[in-house]
Amino acid sequence: NAGIAAKSYAENNSAETIFTKIIRKEIPAKIIYEDDVCLAFNDVNPQAPVHFLLIPKTRIDCLSSSKETDAQLLGHLMYTAGQLGNSLCPKGFRLVINNGQEGCQSVYHLHLHILGGMQCGWPPV
Ligand code: ADP
Repeated sequence: NAGIAAKSYAENNSAETIFTKIIRKEIPAKIIYEDDVCLAFNDVNPQAPVHFLLIPKTRIDCLSSSKETDAQLLGHLMYTAGQLGNSLCPKGFRLVINNGQEGCQSVYHLHLHILGGMQCGWPPV
């Protein structure tokens, strides 16, 4: 369906996603952590007892479109995910990054899913 494809393309390539509005506090979210470069908030459709998202305040569409100059930011996100995960899920947690269509990404603003508060299974799919 060309209409859906066009809409999807526009959504994927527009300058903003719903997460930009959360960063600007234009729509509500349960924010659990914030610093100069990243923001963590509860997922609106949780897939585990603890499920929050960690996003950079500067938009990167997806992990695979990140640049080498983003390496410090990506490291900060990973480090922060570890700290937040450990404080909210001291018995363990899982990080997920969905990338692109087959990766099941729906919001094109890079985000780390942190899931915990239960025993995870493996394999994940
Ligand atoms: P998927 O939708 O397949 O999980 P993503 O990895 O792109 O793909 O995840 C987007 C996540 O953003 C979803 O878990 C969804 O529940 C969450 N989400 C969407 N809108 C909001 C919102 N307004 N507040 C909090 N979380 C949101």
